[in-house]
Amino acid sequence: MSNRTNVDSKKCLFLISGASGTGKTSLVGNILKSDPNIDLSISFTTRKQRGQEVNDRDYHFVSEEQFDMMVKESEFIEWAEVHGNLYGTSRKWLENTIREKDVILEIDHQGASQIREKISESVSIFILPPCWRTLKERLANRATDSNDSIDLRLVNAKKEMFWALSSDYVIINDDFDRAIEELRAIIMSARLTSRQRRRDILEMLKDLP
Ligand code: 5GP
Repeated sequence: MSNRTNVDSKKCLFLISGASGTGKTSLVGNILKSDPNIDLSISFTTRKQRGQEVNDRDYHFVSEEQFDMMVKESEFIEWAEVHGNLYGTSRKWLENTIREKDVILEIDHQGASQIREKISESVSIFILPPCWRTLKERLANRATDSNDSIDLRLVNAKKEMFWALSSDYVIINDDFDRAIEELRAIIMSARLTSRQRRRDILEMLKDLP
């Protein structure tokens, strides 16, 4: 697989991963509401739409045939099978959006590894639950998944959690407000150290008398 991509790192790219039920989506939703300079990629998936979900807002829901076609046409910058369904990120959307804004991808560790190989400047953030029992309770209380799906998500959560060790940052979501503060701090820190910022500083230095 080619490592080349047209995604220039003018802006920051954040990869947010973590087991189901760790509160990733709520954390990301809070950031999006309060920060107009950051956008979230809407993934394509073959998973069935859940009750409250809206097509093209929560996911682009597609058939397996459509997904396979998109894989063949190299339309995904990354894709993976997660909990028995396929998920992928649009290459074109990312290439266009990252020129204007910072971007968050809420993707699993397989997708995050694929992106980090292609875009080494991306910042990976892993969200952990405070403990195993809390994760089980959160998944059961969500009432969005069948019992089989919850069991599969718990089995996968154990494996997924080891990926915290190779992420750039880890946030333990035991207190939502503190987790948000930590996420904001990571985003701020990445912006302050980004290559674009260094380019801006160089430009400024050139103009000094
Ligand atoms: P859910 O079915 O609960 O919405 O998501 C299940 C898992 O799929 C989550 O861990 C989520 O991060 C992951 N996921 C969602 N979109 C993508 C994507 O585009 N690529 C990859 N690799 N994983 C994704």
